[in-house]
Amino acid sequence: MNDFDSALRPESRIVHPPVQEVTGSRPLGVPLHQSHLFAFEDNDALTRAFGGPDQAFVYNRYGNPTVRSLETAVAGLEGGAGAIATASGMGAINTVLLALLSSGDHVIAQRSLYGGTFAVLADLARRWGVEVTHVAGDDPAEVRAALRPNTRLLHLETISNPTTRVTDLPGLIAVAREAGVLSVVDNTFATPLLCRPIEHGADIVVHSATKYLGGHSDVLAGLAVFADAELHRTVWKYAVELGASADPHSAWLTLRGLQTLALRVRRHCESALELAGRLAAHPAVTAVHYPGLPAHPDHELAGRLLSQGHGGVLAFDLAGGREAARTFTESVRLASLAPSLGGVHTLVLHPASTSHRQLDDGELAAAGIGPGTVRIAVGIEHPEDLWADLDQALAKL
Ligand code: PLP
Repeated sequence: MNDFDSALRPESRIVHPPVQEVTGSRPLGVPLHQSHLFAFEDNDALTRAFGGPDQAFVYNRYGNPTVRSLETAVAGLEGGAGAIATASGMGAINTVLLALLSSGDHVIAQRSLYGGTFAVLADLARRWGVEVTHVAGDDPAEVRAALRPNTRLLHLETISNPTTRVTDLPGLIAVAREAGVLSVVDNTFATPLLCRPIEHGADIVVHSATKYLGGHSDVLAGLAVFADAELHRTVWKYAVELGASADPHSAWLTLRGLQTLALRVRRHCESALELAGRLAAHPAVTAVHYPGLPAHPDHELAGRLLSQGHGGVLAFDLAGGREAARTFTESVRLASLAPSLGGVHTLVLHPASTSHRQLDDGELAAAGIGPGTVRIAVGIEHPEDLWADLDQALAKL
């Protein structure tokens, strides 16, 4: 304690406890900097701190050391120049869309988008005058035909939910690049370990880190990764205004989960492939949707685009339709009936009545979702225990 501190009254001293610096050793884990405010000795340095994503830390909406560690880690994994961590995957998607779109702009987006993204685009069209054209995701000529002079963005997902169609990222992004249109790819289902869209020409990659990156269903977070530093700076300026920045504790939990991503993704992929094969041979199942199976329509594309595995999500159709799906999803014991994916626990879901309930019968059919379609987000439990669970639930049909 110096002279200044020792002259203080207890009321002042308790507000200013000493901050313990680490010297002579280093923390092995990334420290959690929960403080959201940073103080300066020099007013010019304080002014500069508001200026960009690479300046000194001042206020968490502008940046935070723990959050920056996550941004740097995921930007590195995706091969990007920089990243913005957000409060959720939807936070990342909204930050990107709202930062880059103006009313009168046109967006080309995949038809089979995550429901939240689909809803945001519909809202932008209805209330903000953004024009949206939906395309299938496997045909560059369809994207070329959809281009307009005011097309600003192409929005894609690496693997679609729940039917696991794999998007022709190189083909579709090439058309956008040629036309000067920015490409945004939601890489949540693939993770940067299976696919790095920036290597295929994407300008921005978004993630729901709530899923595989966090990996334990205990954190809500998102990331937007930018191939180009200028684009990063442009979107960062808007992100600061929007206020969807990640909380340091969420960033810290995501960083902790990220350390085991490679182990988890390998296990998710191996178990999903094993279960997909066994489900395909089961008499109650009429179709299995998993790109690792040779019968999947995108099996060959997946072989080129996805390295080290085909992801942890699969879907299958039950011959008994909606009632069979209800019986199955309510009969699993090791797996749980729950939305979301990407965590260590195996989850089952009936998309037609839950995640895709807003779609009418025609739209469901167009998305490849039948009344008896069930999605499984495969966790990291032992695959034999998982099969025993699925098998006993199938036996109830
Ligand atoms: N993108 C995809 C592909 C998703 O599946 C989800 C959520 O399920 C999101 C984005 C939204 O993520 P969050 O729930 O973290 O906002």
